Amino acid sequence: MGKIEDVNVINGEGFQLSNLEKVVASARANSMWPLPFATSCCGIEYMATMGSNYDLARFGMERMSFSPRQADLLIVAGTISKKLGPILKQVYEQMSEPKWVLAVGACASSGGIFDTYSVLQGIDRIIPVDVYVPGCPPRPEQIIDGIMKIHELVKHESLRRRDSEEYKAMLHSYNIEIDAK
Ligand code: SF4
Repeated sequence: MGKIEDVNVINGEGFQLSNLEKVVASARANSMWPLPFATSCCGIEYMATMGSNYDLARFGMERMSFSPRQADLLIVAGTISKKLGPILKQVYEQMSEPKWVLAVGACASSGGIFDTYSVLQGIDRIIPVDVYVPGCPPRPEQIIDGIMKIHELVKHESLRRRDSEEYKAMLHSYNIEIDAK
């Protein structure tokens, strides 16, 4: 696990006190397991982000998961055709809560230059997105910036958010049942 930040710690002689919610959030943020759903050019930029020059392992993220059930960050990089949409949604549904989604590049965020009958005009038409990374393609620095914004969301998320009526209603608006397998 990476460095624990933003945790209120009170140190005393022979004891250390903190806030469970913040410790859990910090542990989650510093040990995310990403599932790369890469379909085209933006995927190549993501591969560069994984390389030694940019080194995602710094964030405790060197372990890619190609199994949705062992992943908590879905990274969608590339053009998503309407035909592929149901597969992407199925992958999202198979991930356990809590989970987050990063849309990398113009295509994943909005369909990009492909304003055509066959391309999904943004993955948020079918699944909720937490952070969007602009660019065609975005450079690795931008992808890292997007990942760090995800980390900030994770660090400040309440442990009760996923049980809230608002969260369930948001998933319901996508026709997704919570923790559907
Ligand atoms: S946003 Fe640009 S670089 Fe990324 S997948 Fe689309 S066309 Fe390729």
